Amino acid sequence: MKSLITSPLNLSKKEMQDFGYKVVDAIVEHFDNQDRKLPVSNIANRKEIDSLFSEEAPENPMPANEVLKFVLDNVMPHSNIMSHPKTYAFVPGPSNYISVMSDALATGFNIFAGGWIGSSAAAGIEISTLNWLLKLFGFPVKKGGGIFTSGGSMANLTALATARKVKCGEDFSRSVIYLSDQAHSSNIKAINILGFRKEQVRIIPTDMEFKLSINKLKNAIAKDKLEGLQPFCLIASSGTTNTGTVDPLEDLAAICKKENIWLHVDGAFGAAVILSKQGKKLLKGIEKADSITVDPHKWLFQPYEIGCLLVQNHKWLSGTFTEKPVYLRDIEGNESEINFYDHGIELTRHFRALKFYMSVKTFGLQAFRKAIDYNLELAEQVEAELRKSKKWEVISPATLAIINFRYNPVNESFTENQLDQINQKISARMMDSREALLVTTILQGQVVLRMCLINPRTTLEDVKSTLNLCEKFAAE
Ligand SMILES: *Cc1c(COP(=O)(O)O)cnc(C)c1O
Repeated sequence: MKSLITSPLNLSKKEMQDFGYKVVDAIVEHFDNQDRKLPVSNIANRKEIDSLFSEEAPENPMPANEVLKFVLDNVMPHSNIMSHPKTYAFVPGPSNYISVMSDALATGFNIFAGGWIGSSAAAGIEISTLNWLLKLFGFPVKKGGGIFTSGGSMANLTALATARKVKCGEDFSRSVIYLSDQAHSSNIKAINILGFRKEQVRIIPTDMEFKLSINKLKNAIAKDKLEGLQPFCLIASSGTTNTGTVDPLEDLAAICKKENIWLHVDGAFGAAVILSKQGKKLLKGIEKADSITVDPHKWLFQPYEIGCLLVQNHKWLSGTFTEKPVYLRDIEGNESEINFYDHGIELTRHFRALKFYMSVKTFGLQAFRKAIDYNLELAEQVEAELRKSKKWEVISPATLAIINFRYNPVNESFTENQLDQINQKISARMMDSREALLVTTILQGQVVLRMCLINPRTTLEDVKSTLNLCEKFAAE
């Protein structure tokens, strides 16, 4: 068979179309079937994976269709299907087809979203979509600003670099940062990257409901001030990854205002709930934060990668990230023509805003609101289901579509240790069965099962059948 490649790195128009249609067919097949046919999870070990992929870089060409076939046969089946209705673990990635194709367009035209001169339209769409989000969160649209990042980790890093610059200037040797023991690990990672020492970080315990304890925070701040240190930043969570818990944002905002502390709300997982009426109430106070992280690739149903940082004042970003190398001298736009390389860490940037823009335009915000409402309702139905069963105990109630529970039958008296083992076994058996992706977490020292129900295609029937299977595994 003749190679598709007729000149270095080029295909004919016909070859591009043939190959492109095959790729589209594969993606459509995935969207059509992902739900019920494939095993949810099929993670191989290092040895199996090496035997498939480890090879010298080939000098000679191979027909593109063969490469594609190999990839479809070997790569996709050894990845968890994050959009599967029975993927309950971590934070599922329901995604949507419009955004997938939008990403193909952004990549296909290889649009440079770093600066105005790379693409004025990319900058314009980023400005416009960021404004949508600013407005949703009650941030000022004109004065506020933001940036799309690869994900929540990068958004948190960008936020903390900005907070430090604004609150501490050049000298942060006596600055102290506060976060709860339920805050996401990416925050500690960011703190480490930024070069803070361990003594500059206070992990504030949470209460019985996994909320940051106001009293303990106040004590820590007071003590640090007595020692001549500078409390400069608090990281609150609007939807912890473990339990979906929202920290008491109103109270925290008041403390931060009084103490001149930057309030960063890490809403990578949960801030999107603002789109629902119920969620908007839960997040009351978020509009008083200095910065918010929200991950459109989580609960705004976008494919990876798109995270987002929002700030009250766009000048905070440009004041932190603007550098003027000589080779960028000629491309400065005017003040209103934003160069996003001046608002964050990356220079060359993928046109991430496009997928968010095209999917919101296509479906309308209403569809996103409905999906989130559905997720919240489903989690509550699951909670009701668990509560009326004699086998299950709810450990953390449905909160932002996350629920934690454990197998603990009323008519048996297992020790705590036995219960931990049984619940661990349920998760392990489930992984082996490939029927559902369900893993444990640890809450207040107990091994519990955690479900994150943000996939609009997940039904109560899906969850019930998974719970039945859990009960079967528990009894084995
Ligand atoms: C997922 C998550 C992050 C990290 O976001 P990535 O997009 O995975 O980098 C940060 N904070 C919270 C609360 C999260 O749930």
